[in-house]
Amino acid sequence: MRRLPRSAWHAATVASVRPETSQSARIELDVDGWPGNAAGQHLDVRLTAPDGYTATRSYSIASSGPSSRVVLAVDRVPGGEVSPFLVDELRAGDQVEVNGPLGRFFIWEAPGADVSDAPNAPDAPDVSDAANASDAPDARDASRPVQLVGGGSGIVPLYAMAHAHAEAGDDTEFRLLYSVRTPEDTFFRAELAQLAVNGPGRAGGIRIDLIYTRAAPTGHERPPMRLTRDEVARLVVPAERAPRVFVCGSTGFAELVASWLLDLGHDARSIRIERFGGT
Ligand SMILES: Cc1cc2nc3c(=O)[nH]c(=O)nc-3n(C[C@H](O)[C@H](O)[C@H](O)COP(=O)(O)OP(=O)(O)OC[C@H]3O[C@@H](n4cnc5c(N)ncnc54)[C@H](O)[C@@H]3O)c2cc1C
Repeated sequence: MRRLPRSAWHAATVASVRPETSQSARIELDVDGWPGNAAGQHLDVRLTAPDGYTATRSYSIASSGPSSRVVLAVDRVPGGEVSPFLVDELRAGDQVEVNGPLGRFFIWEAPGADVSDAPNAPDAPDVSDAANASDAPDARDASRPVQLVGGGSGIVPLYAMAHAHAEAGDDTEFRLLYSVRTPEDTFFRAELAQLAVNGPGRAGGIRIDLIYTRAAPTGHERPPMRLTRDEVARLVVPAERAPRVFVCGSTGFAELVASWLLDLGHDARSIRIERFGGT
């Protein structure tokens, strides 16, 4: 049985920083001694100022597998202490420290990987979260469909899962429901379009439903507005089919979607939630 790699602090060199959207950046790090990570895990980035002041924030990892090249996608939170620096100031060659990989509940691995939930200290599971608290064995049942639900930058760990699923040529049914402000705000836009080409019926394929909240592309059948409960009922794999559901986004988004899922009959043990903060 494969165990999740243990987390530790590592020195990292920024390999590249480029715009992901107008408000965000894709950051590639070369991490010394990185043990690899499962799709959906995150890490902590620690910045240290010349006067010794440090600031640490968590970021999901968009990449997965054994590579020591780790990909992040960071949204600029206006007035934030760390994210504007990462998006606007960080440059290739800069050094940061990262602690990871973290997270043993919010992960997806191809069937057969059989990931153990062995301790991965010091990462604390989201035990305050009823939907995350149970790690029932059936939550890892490979034959069950997988439903990803993301809002904004909450796509990052879900993209890692969808990409890992495609790379593995896995034939689990995969769907993504992604709520984003405008087409231009879509993270991994080209990559998601490429993943969707295969469609849900093919190995490694995925069905992607995009929900635009502020502006939709010309000809889009749905007017821009927030995701609704009815849309979740219509677009998420129904509870009767017992999907494993991964929800990620701002705290407000994740909690609202989780409450709708429970309302729609989804088993709390089948829902995994990652909250990015904010409302
Ligand atoms: C497990 C985990 C994974 C994460 N992964 C990502 C990721 O992949 N990409 C990413 O961009 N962010 C991610 N985040 C959020 C990230 O950790 C920071 O919270 C975010 O970058 C803001 O940090 P800051 O220092 O700029 O803002 P702060 O100085 O910490 O906060 C400034 C203000 O913004 C509010 N705020 C904090 N976080 C958010 C937020 N996410 N949205 C809206 N308002 C917020 C605060 O309440 C505060 O009022 C993740 C968070 C967690 C817990």
